[in-house]
Amino acid sequence: GNMFDALSERLSGVFDRITGRGALSEKDVDAALREIRVALLEADVALPAVKDFISKVREKAVGEAVIRSVAPGQQVIKIVHDGLVELLGGDSEPERLSLEGEPPIAILMAGLQGSGKTTTTAKIAKRIAEREKKKVLVASLDTRRPAAMEQLAQMAEKAGVPSLPIVAGQTAVEIARRAMSSARLQGFDVVILDTAGRTTLDEEMMGEAAKIASETRPREILLVADALTGQDAVETAKRFNERLKLTGLVLTRMDGDGRGGAALSMRWVTGLPIKFLGTSEKIDGLDAFDAKRLAGRILG
Ligand code: GDP
Repeated sequence: GNMFDALSERLSGVFDRITGRGALSEKDVDAALREIRVALLEADVALPAVKDFISKVREKAVGEAVIRSVAPGQQVIKIVHDGLVELLGGDSEPERLSLEGEPPIAILMAGLQGSGKTTTTAKIAKRIAEREKKKVLVASLDTRRPAAMEQLAQMAEKAGVPSLPIVAGQTAVEIARRAMSSARLQGFDVVILDTAGRTTLDEEMMGEAAKIASETRPREILLVADALTGQDAVETAKRFNERLKLTGLVLTRMDGDGRGGAALSMRWVTGLPIKFLGTSEKIDGLDAFDAKRLAGRILG
């Protein structure tokens, strides 16, 4: 829905009591910000991110100009809206993937098991093949789960993109090397590497992904995370970013009931651009990120 309407409704109780007065006191601003705080927490935004955001908004909102303006309530709503859009990366064109350079260039997909990493790998492959007219190869590096390799091969087929033939007994680094060299030989532009995930943040998983990164020098290292994980998202994003020098985030399951607060938390803790949102289990369920739309959803 329209965020201004939703927010206005939420804040109307606060501002109704003070209409006619024509000016806001700090107390009025604080009452409004308490409502915003509740909205953000309900959307599952992590508490430190909420606190930081509220204190920045407060600083602006208690400024003289706002308090004395004709419609101070509307002004506060605008400050919240603009602040949230800015925090989410602004309302400029969604940042495109960086695919320049000597081909084949590598894109590394990282994330916890079950986050939607394999599905997203195939979705992005399809998008790059179709929209950028690039020759794309995908490869699964999940040596511990043969089913995951098979799943990527099947998803790639749906995407109309070739996947690296599965060879048993190779290490993840060996598969990554094989992917790059066969891409070079066969004239592929882009290789998307689907790294092995774990159900928890563990050092072995991080170490392996870091090793593959140093081996293949990817132009993009994307963290795939489940938008419904809420509070855990901050720790996941922080740990992966410390270890891997991520270039962007992809939030999956945005078609679910969640309001998407995890996206804001992850952006806040890493400063990384959110590049895509996963919107279904289907191969076309991938949207370019739109800060305004997400801001609206978060404030519900
Ligand atoms: P991985 O273990 O991280 O590789 O995760 P998968 O790609 O296997 O995805 C786990 C489950 O989530 C699968 O059933 C996917 O179909 C589903 N999934 C992935 N992305 C989305 C999404 O954006 N929306 C929905 N509803 N389901 C998704």
